[in-house]
Amino acid sequence: MRPIRRGDRGPAVIEINQILAELDLLTGGADEYDNDTERAVRSFQQTRGLSVDGLVGDETWRALDAARWRLGARALYHAIPEPLVGEDVRTLQERLLEMGYDVGRADGIFGPNTARSVAQFQREVGLQPDGACGPQTMHALKRLGRKVVGGRPQWLREAEAFRRSGPNLIGKVIVIDPGHGGSDPGIVVPDGPLRWTEADLAFDMAARLEGRLAAAGMRVHLTRGPGGGPALTDLARADLANELGGDLFISLHIDGHDNPEADGVAAFHYGTGNGVTSTVGERLAGLVLREIVKRTGLRNCATHPKTWELLRLTRMPAVRVDVGYLTSPADRERLIDPAFRDRVVEAVVAAVQRMYFPMEADVPTGSIDVRSLRAAAVS
Ligand SMILES: [Zn+2]
Repeated sequence: MRPIRRGDRGPAVIEINQILAELDLLTGGADEYDNDTERAVRSFQQTRGLSVDGLVGDETWRALDAARWRLGARALYHAIPEPLVGEDVRTLQERLLEMGYDVGRADGIFGPNTARSVAQFQREVGLQPDGACGPQTMHALKRLGRKVVGGRPQWLREAEAFRRSGPNLIGKVIVIDPGHGGSDPGIVVPDGPLRWTEADLAFDMAARLEGRLAAAGMRVHLTRGPGGGPALTDLARADLANELGGDLFISLHIDGHDNPEADGVAAFHYGTGNGVTSTVGERLAGLVLREIVKRTGLRNCATHPKTWELLRLTRMPAVRVDVGYLTSPADRERLIDPAFRDRVVEAVVAAVQRMYFPMEADVPTGSIDVRSLRAAAVS
C-alpha cells in the first residue's frame, strides 16, 4: 500500500487526524493531511522510535491504530486466533515486567505468555486466576504496580540466557536478513554505466557472511534468496527468525539520502529511547559498528535504539546495520568493490565472535583474524 501523505484526503486521513487529536498531538479535526498532520505524524513517530518520515505507511498505521487503546479502556484477554494488540497491552506487559513476571518482550500483543503472567499475578493477589485482565485485575495492578518496581527483568533474563549459552560459536543459530529484495530493490542509484541496488549488495554481503559463519561452525539461515518474487515485510522476517529459533539476528541494509554528502555506517537495536533497551542487542550493535568502522574506515554514525517491528518482534538479540550510503559517491565507490564488502563481512564475523567471549576475555576492536576461526572450529 502507498503511504498516506501530505495533500491526501479521504476517510483514512480523517481517521488519522482523529487519532492524532486523541493523542493531543493535533488540535481540530481537519479532513486534509496538511502541514499540521505531517508535523503531528513526525512527532508521533519520534516518540515511538519509528522512522521519522512524516508518512503513514503500514508500520506507522499499525502503531497509530494500537495507540488508541489506553490501559483500562477495554478488558484484555488471550483472544484466539486474532490476539488483541495495542498500547494498553504493552502498558500491561511493562507493568508486569516491572513486577518481575516473565511476559517475554513487551510487544503489545496479548499472547499466551502474557495470559500466564496475568494468571500468576491474579493467584498471588487472591483473584480468580483466569488470565484475563478485567476491572478487578486492573485495579489490583494499579494499586500494586507503582510500589513494586525493580529494574527491567526481561533484559536481564535475555542477558543471562545469552551468557548461559556458552562461549562457543559451534551449533549456534544465526539468522542473516538481507534487506529488501524481490520486487523491492531498496535504494537504487541509476546513474553511471551500472545500476546498483541496495537489495543486490545486501544479498551479496549476506551470502559472503553465510560462508564465513558456517565455516566457523554456526548454523546460518538467510531470510531470502537473491531472486525476484514478492518483497518480504519486516513482520514476516521477524516471524521467520522466530520459527528458525535464531540465537542472533542480523539485518543488512545500505542507506540513502537526497544529500550526496550523507555517508557512514549506523547500527540499530531494540529500545524505546527512554531507558527500555535490549542490552544484548545494544552490545551486538556496538560491536558490529565499531568493528566495521575500524576495519573499513566508514564514518561512525553511531548506534540507535528503535522499536521497529524487525527488532521488537524478533525474540533473540537483533541488530540492523546500514552499511554506508549508496547515494554518497565515496561510499558507493567502496561498496561496489568486492574486497571492501569482504572487509565488512569480516568485521561482522569478528563482532559475532566477540559476542560469545566472556566479557573479561574480550579483545580490542580490529584484532581478531577471522580466518583463524575455522581452525578454532575444527580443533
Ligand atoms: Zn534498506
